[in-house]
Parts: sequence; structure tokens; C-alpha cells
Amino acid sequence: MSEARILDGKATALAIRTEVRSAAAKLEESGCRAGLAVVLVGEDPASHVYVRNKDRAASDAGLAVQTVRLGAATTQERLLQEVRTLAEDDAVHGILVQLPLPSHLDAAEVIEAIPPHKDVDGLTQSNVAALVTGRPGLRPCTPAGCIELLTRYEIGLEGKHVVVVGRSMLVGKPLAHLALAANATVTICHSRTQELEQHCRRADILVAAVGIPELIRGDWVQPGAVVLDVGINRAEDGRLVGDVDFEGASRIASAITPVPGGIGPMTIAMLLVNTLQSAALRCGMTAKDLGWGR
Ligand code: NDP
Repeated sequence: MSEARILDGKATALAIRTEVRSAAAKLEESGCRAGLAVVLVGEDPASHVYVRNKDRAASDAGLAVQTVRLGAATTQERLLQEVRTLAEDDAVHGILVQLPLPSHLDAAEVIEAIPPHKDVDGLTQSNVAALVTGRPGLRPCTPAGCIELLTRYEIGLEGKHVVVVGRSMLVGKPLAHLALAANATVTICHSRTQELEQHCRRADILVAAVGIPELIRGDWVQPGAVVLDVGINRAEDGRLVGDVDFEGASRIASAITPVPGGIGPMTIAMLLVNTLQSAALRCGMTAKDLGWGR
């Protein structure tokens, strides 16, 4: 069996970041600098790494970035105050609250304090409703990154059977809606799904967003299928691995994303895209004005 084509999220994300940089420079020429604010609460090491990467990518693309770091003991009221201050700041076009929050905080209430037009993670109820009803809005970065990666590799979704394993609000559910909007036929699997293996075998495009190292075995993949592995897990030997057995699956699939270097970098690239789009809209410019988009 031949080896699958690698869907290189790192290279694709770099190309998108270059496009964002050029569009952001055009926006700035017209007197509007796109601004992103990232709010990080607590000491979770993975969150610190993610925020650092987002901060760096946004700065590289010429966006104004501010990171608000708050201690693990921050109260709900203090966090809400910070978000409301950013909500009123005209220099801030995108607000991202890094999840998960410490368990004493109510993430849903904090997210709803973000105005929908600054909700670059696409998690407010208004943006979720826009996604489900097909209205314009900001889409969650990871699922948007999955779709963008497929688009750039000219892998169409129309009429395909997309099987999404995972139903979180952050990844699985929005991805299923984006695939549906692209005219795919969608199956969503989760922890109570029976015969997961059989569902996976029927996928033309299989997306794993579970958080269990190498749950999806190579022989669960239909020959010729496309595999998107969203999972980022630390294996017992310290390696970063996805939710898919990469070695096994890449012998059977026609195309597959690696971990790392697949969907992770695409997520960050889409955060920049969302921030730029939000800034452009606020400054009365269109994607076309910025020489952006297809
Ligand atoms: P969640 O924990 O919120 O959701 C996991 C989902 O997987 C749930 O819907 C759960 O089902 C389902 N699930 C759990 N066990 C099984 C099982 N045995 N069989 C089938 N489904 C199962 O995780 P996220 O969606 O936030 O993240 C998923 C993975 O993606 C993680 O590894 C995370 O680190 C990674 N991630 C990567 C990003 C990137 O940029 N590449 C960004 C975001 C996340 P149920 O609903 O029934 O509990």
C-alpha cells in the first residue's frame, strides 16, 4: 500500500500568515492597526505554550497584541472586568480567552462578555447561532483551520461522507456544521457511540478530535480516505501524538495530517485571519480592499 500524502499544516499556515501580514500592512496604511488581546488565567503549562505561540504569530503578522495574564486565584468578577475593558477598547478587534479556565470560573459567562464581532474564537452564542443558521460570523479557529487546509489542498467536501469523532463546542460540533455547510454528509461520533470502528471505516474524510492518544487505529481507515487528526496528546514516552495511529493510517489513507505540524498551526493561522477580518470590518474595509481572500 502506498504512503498517504502529508497535508502540511505548518507550511500552509505559514503561507496564510504571510497573506495576513500583507493584508494587515494595507489595513495599517489606511490608519487601522489590527489588534488582538489574549487573556490567560492560571498556570496551566500547555495554555502558556499555546498563548506564547499565538502571541508570537500575531506579532509576526504585524498585529498589535496584548496578553493579559491573571493569577490562578482570579475571581469571576475580576476576569469579567478585564474582558469588558477589552470589549470597550477600540484598538482591540479580537479577544481570545484561553481555555480551559481554572475550575472555579464560569467560562460560559466569560465568553458571553465578549462582543460577537470581537469573538475571534467563534464561541459566543451569537456566533454559534450564525454558524448553525449559515449567517456570516466568526468561526471557531480549529474547525475553520481543518476546512481551510482541505480547501488549499483542493480536497472537496461536497457529497463526501465526513465522520467527526468528538462533539465538543470547540472542535467537533462546529466542524460538523462547517462540513454540512460545504454539502458533506456528516456523522458525529462521541464517547457513547457504538461500533466506532465501523463508523470510521465508512468515512471519506475522517476527523479525530477526541484527546485519546492513537485511539483511531490504522485499519479503521477506509482505503483512500482523508484523515485529519486534531488531537494533541503526550504519549507515555513523551512524544506528541494525535488521536490517530499515524503509521498505520498513513499506509491506508490517501492523505493525512501529521501531529505536530498539522491542524495545530492551522488553528493559529485562522486566529490571525479572524482578527484581521474583524479589524477590517470595524475599519470599513472589505477583504477585497486588502487584496485578501479568494
Ligand atoms: P473535549 O474533551 O472537549 O471533547 C472530546 C470529545 O471526544 C467528546 O465529545 C467526547 O465524547 C469524545 N470522546 C471521548 N472519548 C471517546 C471515545 N472513546 N470514543 C469516541 N469519542 C470519544 O476535547 P476537544 O474537542 O477540546 O479536543 C479534542 C482534542 O483536540 C484534544 O486532544 C485537544 O488537545 C485537541 N485540540 C487541538 C487543537 C489544535 O489546535 N490542534 C485545538 C483544540 C483541541 P462525549 O461528548 O460523549 O464526552
